[in-house]
Amino acid sequence: MAGLVAAARARELGAKPVVLEKGDRAGGSMLLSSGVVWRHRTLDDFRAECPGGDPSLQARIVEELDDALDWLERLGVEPVRRETGNPLTVGRRYDPRVLADVLVRAAGEVRLGEPFSDAQILATGGFGVRLARERGLLVRAAPWSEGDGLAFALARGAATTAGMGEYYARAVPGPVGEEDFVRASQLYARHALVVDDDGRDLGGAAWHESDIVQRFPDGRAWYVVDMRALQQRVRERTVADLVEAARAAGGDVRPAEQLPFELPASAKLAEPPFLAVRVYAGVTHTIGGIRVDERSRVVDADGTPVADLYAAGADAGGIFTGGYGSGLAAALVFGRIAAQSALGR
Ligand SMILES: Cc1cc2nc3c(=O)[nH]c(=O)nc-3n(C[C@H](O)[C@H](O)[C@H](O)COP(=O)(O)OP(=O)(O)OC[C@H]3O[C@@H](n4cnc5c(N)ncnc54)[C@H](O)[C@@H]3O)c2cc1C
Repeated sequence: MAGLVAAARARELGAKPVVLEKGDRAGGSMLLSSGVVWRHRTLDDFRAECPGGDPSLQARIVEELDDALDWLERLGVEPVRRETGNPLTVGRRYDPRVLADVLVRAAGEVRLGEPFSDAQILATGGFGVRLARERGLLVRAAPWSEGDGLAFALARGAATTAGMGEYYARAVPGPVGEEDFVRASQLYARHALVVDDDGRDLGGAAWHESDIVQRFPDGRAWYVVDMRALQQRVRERTVADLVEAARAAGGDVRPAEQLPFELPASAKLAEPPFLAVRVYAGVTHTIGGIRVDERSRVVDADGTPVADLYAAGADAGGIFTGGYGSGLAAALVFGRIAAQSALGR
């Protein structure tokens, strides 16, 4: 997304950008996403949720996202909803296909199937695919984000941020297809007893659940729910719907007595029978990455800008360190900033 946004903004400012896209379609992970572009309500909230992130980068998202969302509307993207459905956040929800179509048109020249060899603005979506492969985890994202932007920046003297091992994670019931990335995600750890393969309780989850999924040993766990939990709502669905989606996607859903270990006692398991769902960590994108300043300039270890090099989106790390935030918001806000900085605005 960040590359398309940067090109659209650069064109608006009179430049003639070219977007080089390694994949066979434009839009990256944005095209596969739920399309909710959001921010924490205040910088203090953002700091509390992502304490390891760079406050100056976080401030730009809080200060500029609303204007950037208005800009999207001026480009011709109508939101499908003007709220996120989450009282902790504010933002808008888009149809990702509409978002991609409008941005591709606004970006101008987009060449598919062309990995970059030189670039002014890096926006390759981080290195989630490589991180997943190295750790034996599943990928829940577009398949092209191998860290090419990071490698290019490092060769030019860039520094990296804190949290290079962190990623935005969702529990998935197995290696599901792209059409099931959203539908089959298992987002009810807060209602489940979460245990490892020896039956050890893995503890509680934050509201976004990205934390507990990163704690799955070897990227695997079980979510065990009782009858009460099945009726709980998760956004527009119930936990029972999500369990059914896991089953429909080919996941392992079984009565808890068929687990090969004893379950610990838990207040989460009050109303039998209990159901167990096999879940795996799905890497959506990395959280650490290239160090940038608040103008999206790639910087070295001293904070000195690397000449004429900018990064945006998941390539620019250190925004959500220690927590979770909207990758689409980062791509939108810093894609615009990168274009402005590259053009001296
Ligand atoms: C299922 C799912 C649901 C999500 N839901 C949400 C949500 O509701 N809200 C939210 O905020 N975030 C969501 N996200 C995350 C969001 O999609 C990402 O944070 C966002 O797309 C990151 O933007 P980006 O520009 O950094 O990367 P991308 O959008 O992935 O774009 C990076 C592009 O770079 C290309 N590329 C990679 N390497 C090269 C190379 N060497 N040369 C040229 N091109 C290259 C890739 O092919 C890709 O097209 C979701 C993600 C997924 C997968």
